[in-house]
Amino acid sequence: MDNKALLHKHGLRITDTRLAVLSLLQNSSKALSQSDVERSLPQQADRVTLFRVLQAFEDAGLAHKVMDAHGVARYASCAPTCSTEQHQDSHAHFHCTQCGDVYCLEDVELPKVKVPKGFKQQESHLEVEGRCAACA
Ligand SMILES: [Zn+2]
Ligand SMILES: [Zn+2]
Ligand SMILES: [Zn+2]
Repeated sequence: MDNKALLHKHGLRITDTRLAVLSLLQNSSKALSQSDVERSLPQQADRVTLFRVLQAFEDAGLAHKVMDAHGVARYASCAPTCSTEQHQDSHAHFHCTQCGDVYCLEDVELPKVKVPKGFKQQESHLEVEGRCAACA
């Protein structure tokens, strides 16, 4: 499926900025902050637009958000099974303590956690800290 079809499938209008941001996220090995995206885009886009694009991707199941050590949101492209209803990115994330980059560890699945009766689980996170290959 090409990215136009992908945006359409997730209920989003096709715009040049959305297409550019989507392919940026797909081709990046690490999760990208809004300023990373801003720096890497072929054409300039204003901040508000970019913020909305990333927000829309998260709502639509195209990108998931990971907070870095400074509380800055970073975005990574989603598993194909993610949808507007639910994210399915149940993998761990690696936080580099040196450069601060965040990587999806897609092969590391989150353990199933049993919550007490009457509790309803929405999300769980597993974070691994260390040094990435570039910093090690
Ligand atoms: Zn997702
Ligand atoms: Zn690093
Ligand atoms: Zn991830």
